[in-house]
Amino acid sequence: MRPQPPYEVRKTWRNHLGNQSVDPLRIYSPRSIEEVSEIVRLAESHGVTTRAVGSGHSWSDVALTEGFLMRTHHLSRAPAPEPDFFAPAWSSRTLVRVEAGIRIKELNAHLDRHGLGLSQMGGYDHQTVAGVISTSTHGSGTEYGPLNDYAHSLDMVVSGGTVVRVERAGGPTDRAAYEAHHGDRRTLIQDDDVYDAVNVGMGCMGVVCTALIEVEAKYHMREVREMHPWAKVKADLLDGSVLDDNEHYELVFSPYARKHEYPCLVTTRNRVSDPRNRPWDKRMRNWLVELFAKLPITPHLLNLVLHIRPSLAPFLIETAMKALVKDRYDEVSYKVFNIGNANLVPAYSSEIGVPMDGRHIKAVERVFEVAAQRRQLGDVYQSSPIALRFVRQSPAMLSMMHGRDTMMMELIQLRGNEGGYEMLGAYEEALYELGGRPHWGQVNTLTGSHGLVASMYPRYEEWQAVHRRMNASGVFDSPFSKRSGIAMDRFTP
Ligand SMILES: Cc1cc2nc3c(=O)[nH]c(=O)nc-3n(C[C@H](O)[C@H](O)[C@H](O)COP(=O)(O)OP(=O)(O)OC[C@H]3O[C@@H](n4cnc5c(N)ncnc54)[C@H](O)[C@@H]3O)c2cc1C
Repeated sequence: MRPQPPYEVRKTWRNHLGNQSVDPLRIYSPRSIEEVSEIVRLAESHGVTTRAVGSGHSWSDVALTEGFLMRTHHLSRAPAPEPDFFAPAWSSRTLVRVEAGIRIKELNAHLDRHGLGLSQMGGYDHQTVAGVISTSTHGSGTEYGPLNDYAHSLDMVVSGGTVVRVERAGGPTDRAAYEAHHGDRRTLIQDDDVYDAVNVGMGCMGVVCTALIEVEAKYHMREVREMHPWAKVKADLLDGSVLDDNEHYELVFSPYARKHEYPCLVTTRNRVSDPRNRPWDKRMRNWLVELFAKLPITPHLLNLVLHIRPSLAPFLIETAMKALVKDRYDEVSYKVFNIGNANLVPAYSSEIGVPMDGRHIKAVERVFEVAAQRRQLGDVYQSSPIALRFVRQSPAMLSMMHGRDTMMMELIQLRGNEGGYEMLGAYEEALYELGGRPHWGQVNTLTGSHGLVASMYPRYEEWQAVHRRMNASGVFDSPFSKRSGIAMDRFTP
């Protein structure tokens, strides 16, 4: 008999902010795909659930499980030990298979050492590869889909402890070579529908152990940040050329008008040649702002000020945006994508995707109304700038970007802001009326009632058909999947 993987008991797991926690029955830290398979089988044999977690950078409950929680920090090798067996048609593409518990930060370092870089990333790098794939984490730029779109092949452990490799039809793996190597111990599934369902699986489809990611040669970017009034930004967005002319375009805005204008900080990022001989001040962001954001005292100060004088929120938001203005910042791409120490400020957010068919403009103006109403009725304030990012549609069935180019609106609140969660709930309801879909990894109030998730995603039933296959025993169900109505049917007589 094989030795059982070691585990811990009576331990609490918390996400990075500490707003989500759970006391699972056991915490495992598997070191191989075989150990993952063993843990799934054990969970099934005891009739309890299991789920992998990444680095806990989801503000929602999406990573929680009450059964056997699997930490994935030991599954973080680059390159992954699993062989690829490339089909000839794929041999000219730049593909890297990594273990899925690696963080984006270490992946970037690995790629950099090999003269490579990610084509796109979000604004932070502490999340794991499996984490970003599972929740459809995204950056900005209408030529670029969410990060899951750059993965072409996933090694996964599904219900029954079965090890599968999932790809689209005609995917990168040569079937004959794969089967000759693995025999009937593993299964290669090359099927568009299965791939588009398991890619963005929120941990409900099984445990992702490796991902094959398409990358490109290392490159550099220039970031420019400018203040503009919403009236100009709105005109630019309606015209659309700012999105076509810039590789990456995004903005943050204040929902409070000052002198009849809603201030916006617009960021563009475009490729440049290697900036090594540029002056130093063009190769860094504003160091004073970076330092301020990093100081442990900063969030306490901001929360204290907002507690004593909440009406200062509009001023603080605008001041924070103005401090970030910069005529140019040139660096290697992954440093420019990372928005910097703002990520370290203790905060949480909801993020809602709305289609870029005119409803995206209405969405911003609805948020102005919600913020004004909360201020007028309850003296409640938005405590941070609100971000808009623009993402190409994704084929993944439960990506927030599925089937439509999407504007993602990130509604950020400082951790100590009174009424912050309630305000996020009000924004969320308002944006659902405009076709909004919530980011799986960010705060949301989705429930299983009113067929809500099915009404948001046109291929939901097809996703569920694959889910019934991959999660046949219900072993990957969780508090999140039960509250959102995604979990396997329960209590059937
Ligand atoms: C500071 C900060 C910045 C952020 N910036 C962005 C951004 O720019 N863009 C954006 O879109 N989002 C952003 N997010 C949200 C974040 O990217 C997502 O919530 C992401 O899923 C977190 O990844 P993680 O590795 O921490 O995974 P976790 O939060 O630990 O898990 C997320 C989900 O992935 C599943 N999962 C994890 N590992 C596996 C595995 N091996 N197999 C199967 N399922 C697995 C979990 O079960 C869970 O459902 C940000 C969050 C923070 C805290």
